[in-house]
Amino acid sequence: MKRAPVQQHHRTALDGLFRYADLLHFGEVHVKFDPVTGLKAIIAIHNLKRGSAIGGCRLIHYPTTDGALEDALRLAYMMSFKAAISNLPHGGAKAVLIKPKEIKDRKAYFEVFGDFINELGGRYVTAMDSGTNAEDMDVIETRTPYVTCTSISKNSGDPSPQTALGVRRSIEAAVKFKTGRASLEGIHVAIQGAGHVGYFLAKELYQCGAQLTVCDVNEMALQRCIDEFGAESCSPDTIYDVSADVFSPCALGAVLNLQNIKRLKVSIVAGSANNQLAHHHHGALLLERDILYAPDFVANAGGLIYVAAVYDHAELTRAKAQVEGIYDTLMDIFIQAKRDNCPTNDIAEKIAAERLS
Ligand code: NAD
Repeated sequence: MKRAPVQQHHRTALDGLFRYADLLHFGEVHVKFDPVTGLKAIIAIHNLKRGSAIGGCRLIHYPTTDGALEDALRLAYMMSFKAAISNLPHGGAKAVLIKPKEIKDRKAYFEVFGDFINELGGRYVTAMDSGTNAEDMDVIETRTPYVTCTSISKNSGDPSPQTALGVRRSIEAAVKFKTGRASLEGIHVAIQGAGHVGYFLAKELYQCGAQLTVCDVNEMALQRCIDEFGAESCSPDTIYDVSADVFSPCALGAVLNLQNIKRLKVSIVAGSANNQLAHHHHGALLLERDILYAPDFVANAGGLIYVAAVYDHAELTRAKAQVEGIYDTLMDIFIQAKRDNCPTNDIAEKIAAERLS
């Protein structure tokens, strides 16, 4: 009698998902596919201990579904830390919509997504992110109350100005800690990315008398900063070589890698981009080079603080004060990190993890 062939165990996408979910202490992952509108949505809810989980909804192209899933998990994890370090009564989540070649009916697409959010009964609250806008949030609001950043509620919309305010406060805290100076007058900041946050950050810094060097792959975005704020420009390839006081990553994640950190000619890194460190241990490399790093999920929390306040119908003046308070949160982190001779990202993560446990 012939023996049955020994079954090879192939690792499936679900194996990877559960391994990763275990590593990041998840949580829930929900998926929805709608063949009519082309919606392929992943909602990752990392943590609900502090309250309903808020996180933006991004609509971008992904080369693979695994890549989209990983993005959703990583971003949701970071949102939990951001909400916890900011003392918000919320957990962290993220929605990733895998962009199809064409969205024939954008309204129908976001209606189906709104129904999907509604099915989760308020555990997930959505907001704008890369590739989505206030009008999309308005459509979602016709199907579910679990949405913020709509254009209908007058105080909502784009959170980028609040994110930029928080980053400016982060730069102020870092400059004060590093040099003792209370003003940004004459401080040279190299900004990578002049998009939503980068533009408003350049405006904030210009108004404080800072000197700016900006790069962007989008010529129009770059020109706006040159025209309005007298910024110098450089190519995206050379931004890491600019001799300045501060490097402010406001475009992409994972830019603080081994090669780029070696090139930096600044004493401070503070920007809005999510997941700036290519690997956790690159925080130690920045410390080794005596570069003060404002951990990303602390520095860029202004937008989340603001949209959470809008969603919770909280006092917006208090929310603004809380965004300004990013200065104090960071100052405490810098002091602890110096005392323990420890990377700033380790301290920030420790504080957030304690609040989540
Ligand atoms: P955006 O898309 O409006 O702006 C990003 C800009 O970076 C664009 O102008 C783009 O052309 C430019 N860019 C892309 N690749 C580049 C490169 N290689 N070199 C230089 N420039 C490049 O996005 P945004 O809303 O301004 O957000 C910027 C970053 O901050 C993102 O990482 C985002 O996740 C993060 N963030 C944003 C907010 C917010 O409120 N918008 C909140 C928290 C975190």
